[in-house]
Amino acid sequence: MTRNTVHGAGTERITAAVVREKNGDFIIETLERESDLRLDEVLVRVVATGLCQTDVHVRDQNLPTPLPAVLGHEGSGVVEAVGAAVQTVAPGDHVTMSYQSCGHCRSCLTGYPAYCERSFPLNFGGARADGTNALRDDAGHEIHGHFFGQSSFATHAVATERNVVKVPVDAPLELLGPLGCGIQTGAGAIMNSLAVPAGASVVVFGAGAVGLSAIMAAHAVGASPIIAVDVVDERLILAEELGATHTVNARTADVSASVRDIAPGGVDFALEITGRPSMLTLAVDVLAPLGTAGLIGGAPAGTQAPVDMNTLLGGRTVRGIAQGDSIPQLFIPELIKMHQAGRFPFDRLVTFYDFADINTAVADTQSGKAIKPILRIPTSHTISN
Ligand SMILES: [Zn+2]
Ligand SMILES: [Zn+2]
Repeated sequence: MTRNTVHGAGTERITAAVVREKNGDFIIETLERESDLRLDEVLVRVVATGLCQTDVHVRDQNLPTPLPAVLGHEGSGVVEAVGAAVQTVAPGDHVTMSYQSCGHCRSCLTGYPAYCERSFPLNFGGARADGTNALRDDAGHEIHGHFFGQSSFATHAVATERNVVKVPVDAPLELLGPLGCGIQTGAGAIMNSLAVPAGASVVVFGAGAVGLSAIMAAHAVGASPIIAVDVVDERLILAEELGATHTVNARTADVSASVRDIAPGGVDFALEITGRPSMLTLAVDVLAPLGTAGLIGGAPAGTQAPVDMNTLLGGRTVRGIAQGDSIPQLFIPELIKMHQAGRFPFDRLVTFYDFADINTAVADTQSGKAIKPILRIPTSHTISN
């Protein structure tokens, strides 16, 4: 696509996938991006970006990010420019982008940015913290961006110093984006939130990208047994290849009885990733005394899950987990080292797609054909679909 229109002073052309209506397709469009960066901003030429279920939930407006918007929150790429106050990255650096946090609230200051008090507006607000946006369409209308501080379904992302992570130049850049959300969530739940020690027993409910990342991490820390629960046999087979010692198909087996057969006194740790209330109830029921159930799976607002009060009295804990308690600048480099050492083969979860095929990638995650799609973003500004 070539355009000869003169665009406004102080803007640059980018190509992005725009969601214009609830349940609508992603539409590849040319947009104008403000060329001036704010003091803390980092302009990233996006090389590739993961697709996460949260993008689809927002497209379908299960979460209230305003439309039209550019989504995408698992981007990786090369820094092109930085704002005047940025100190930790420079043009030419390879980076992944992660979730956004404020840096000033009690959660951020105590080392828990995943629980930032401003998490919702900063990640889902569809604008900078001050309500402004860097993107406009050809008609001059504002397009909501800054999704998770990045909006990575685009050739360029305006991130900030807080949510970019410098990565080694010898790491496979186009593979790294999902470390910033889904993969750090699963691995971090095991390694940070629950701090699973060697020899501990673990059950994971849901063997998608997050669950399989948890299973790989549980294997890496020496947990045993590691029990994967899902309803899709192919995913359970992959779970075994990635470190699960046992698998249970919840469609055909009694999950509680099966887990008790494998771990007679119950398990030390259970992770719930399906978002189904009945699975959270089960996750608590299969715990050993003093065991902990971690909840990752999101459910519609107001969803309740029954928990047996007497079961909790046995020293058991239920806790919610966001982003695996990851501090991205510390944890993502660790995961990259584990991957390079062959101890965290998350590339096994990935299917690559061309950016123009973004809607196919969405369909393939919904059908179960793909576990973690990564979209390759061309350098050219002239993508058509
Ligand atoms: Zn904060
Ligand atoms: Zn995500």
